[in-house]
Amino acid sequence: MTTPSLRRPLKVLLATPRGFCAGVDRAIQIVERAIAKYGAPVYVRHEIVHNRHVVERLRALGAVFVEELDQCPADRPVVFSAHGVPKRVPAEARAREMLYLDATCPLVSKVHVEAQRHHEAGREIVLIGHAGHPEVVGTLGQLPQGAVALIETVADVADFQPRDPANVAFITQTTLSVDDTAGIIAALRARFPAIATPYKEDICYATTNRQEAVKTVGAKCDVLLVLGSANSSNSVRLAEVGHRAGAASYLIEDATALDLAWLEGARVVGVTAGASAPEVLVNGLLDRLARTFDLTIQEAEAEPETVIFKLPRALAV
Ligand code: SF4
Repeated sequence: MTTPSLRRPLKVLLATPRGFCAGVDRAIQIVERAIAKYGAPVYVRHEIVHNRHVVERLRALGAVFVEELDQCPADRPVVFSAHGVPKRVPAEARAREMLYLDATCPLVSKVHVEAQRHHEAGREIVLIGHAGHPEVVGTLGQLPQGAVALIETVADVADFQPRDPANVAFITQTTLSVDDTAGIIAALRARFPAIATPYKEDICYATTNRQEAVKTVGAKCDVLLVLGSANSSNSVRLAEVGHRAGAASYLIEDATALDLAWLEGARVVGVTAGASAPEVLVNGLLDRLARTFDLTIQEAEAEPETVIFKLPRALAV
């Protein structure tokens, strides 16, 4: 005879897709392979991806994280983070004859190329993004100062005064809220009907898919738990999307950050992870929930993501 559980039942809806994207996977592999090939230490300019657990694991393997290139000795390899870097950074590395490996996500590089093309075509460029985020710093740094204007909100669109309103283009950060950005783009199009647009959406597939998954799960749960770091743009956006979908949403670094008081009265809890958060954190959270509740776990059905990015030639096997 089975003993009935005294723990309260709780249903967990796992959002799919969640967690690592192809750009994060590639960036982490670049650091791991660089350490295997060149030995420790390997320097990494900025957090390779915005996740504390990933950074701590790589640090234990021999990565040294710095914020600027002048903190790296010239005789050790350096990796540039997935967010991309201003052009001056590889230029400085070449000038110092350093061995550098660029882990910039190819989808961020695509935006850099777009910016360059618009600039060469004489267009004034608007970048939709968040001031100070390393990806934005990197994209602004592809072109001379003043060539790209940063816009963060619909209100900023009204304040933007281009030299020639008929010759404007926009690009975006890759990890924005799809819905908020649509509003900003609509305002830009209303003001500048001839504005040149990205050939293919700049918000990346991983950001879009994870937000769509959260919209579905968020509408069906009372509380949404998003695993990710507070400086991870796409993770922060997932919590916002969950909130808008109707779930009380919390961004947590890992299971230890869970406050069980959030789950009081909740019958269904959604769980997802930002594009830089490893699946091991999801498993840790489920283990913690299972210690308190009688869990039923349901994984949302979705098309599997099949995107893979090639490694730099120097590290390919
Ligand atoms: Fe690349 Fe998108 Fe992943 Fe950023 S979130 S690393 S842009 S795939």
